[in-house]
Amino acid sequence: MSYPYEAPVSQELFDRAAAVTPGGVNSPVRAFRAVGGTPRFMVSGTGPYLTDADGREYVDLVCSWGPMILGHAHPEVIAAVQAAVTHGTSFGTPSEGEVTLAEEMVARVEPLDQVRLVSSGTEATMSAIRLARGFTGRAKVVKFAGCYHGHVDALLAAAGSGLATFGLPDTPGVTGAQTGETIVLPYNDLDAVRAAFAAHPEEIACVITEASPGNMGVVPPRDGFNAGLKELCAADGALYVSDEVMTGFRVSKAGWYGLDGVRPDLMTFGKVMGGGFPAAAFGGRADVMAQLAPVGPVYQAGTLSGNPVATAAGLAQLRLLDDAAYRTVDAVSAEIQGLVTAALGKEGVAHRLQTAGSMFSVFFTDEEVRDFEAAKRQEAYRFTPFFHSMLAQGVYVPPSAFESWFVSTAHDERAVERIAAALPAAARAAAEAQA
Ligand code: PLP
Repeated sequence: MSYPYEAPVSQELFDRAAAVTPGGVNSPVRAFRAVGGTPRFMVSGTGPYLTDADGREYVDLVCSWGPMILGHAHPEVIAAVQAAVTHGTSFGTPSEGEVTLAEEMVARVEPLDQVRLVSSGTEATMSAIRLARGFTGRAKVVKFAGCYHGHVDALLAAAGSGLATFGLPDTPGVTGAQTGETIVLPYNDLDAVRAAFAAHPEEIACVITEASPGNMGVVPPRDGFNAGLKELCAADGALYVSDEVMTGFRVSKAGWYGLDGVRPDLMTFGKVMGGGFPAAAFGGRADVMAQLAPVGPVYQAGTLSGNPVATAAGLAQLRLLDDAAYRTVDAVSAEIQGLVTAALGKEGVAHRLQTAGSMFSVFFTDEEVRDFEAAKRQEAYRFTPFFHSMLAQGVYVPPSAFESWFVSTAHDERAVERIAAALPAAARAAAEAQA
């Protein structure tokens, strides 16, 4: 496929970037390797729009991979950041903003007795795993194929989109010792979990799962799956760890927990709670959290943890996320889903839209996608021309067929109309795609 190189300034920046940064990017999916062409270098964002270095505006359906649930540069978030930054950017001491953000999280998400703030989702899951191992005195960890929990060594096995995109079965640099205690099971398969507990009684520290996976595309848990995990963990004395880095504060006021009510022992958060800044957290049962230093023996720390600017941004964003805000994102998401399915249906393109709250993704397949193997069976080659057609028409969808799309409260009628106008040609391109 030839790509319309309509982004000369981005291309120039990409060439410069490639000289000083591997692949020209600081996170692999940004490089457009799955779809080809020039990654767009963005210079500004306002509401539902991003503007690139060539001066082209896009309706943004990536929203920074989730955080920007109020759209870009929300005036109240920006005001909170400006107010915070004038008082200094990092103290290396406790400060009130950390307390207020933690209180807000604990008030919203009932299973959180306590939280510890960190700076990325990866740090949150890495720390939660360490804590689960420290608390139980056990080594093994169960994860599911297609679930991504950040680039934690022990969890980089069958880890979903980034690796699906690059076709890497695993990554060099992670040793057998680091993944040797990781048991990877098919998602949505409770029998497999039962068998793992039977084979390793009292050896499994925790089962970690995306609360509702979004990193192999959106693949929600079957009814009873999370409850079954919790039950099996409790029966064996293992911890049930729910990774809500993506779903937390995005799919409801209390994240996925707010929708399914299954009470995890530990939870992890990032993205939305940082308001576009590096803030993340893990938290849960008081007796488990009491094992963390300085109270308990499990060490965990961070120079920039609870950073005053990041916590101010996160708090401002969370405070704006009331029930009405979630109704707005749910409604706009449903509207866009309807448009996507109508356009693809009109062109006779086999597809399936799957949702988790306002998160959704499009699989180019007829079959219901319940696990990573099914996700990989889709006709992903149809996504590339679909993506480039949308991009050329000013709509920025995630540059991979294995990702969730994200919307915001700022996606108004004008933004939706622009998506509607772009879809027919993109659907035609998907229909005409050759394997
Ligand atoms: N967990 C989940 C479910 C995620 O989706 C991600 C990132 O996409 C992470 C953890 C890692 O978060 P971060 O990229 O902030 O390290």
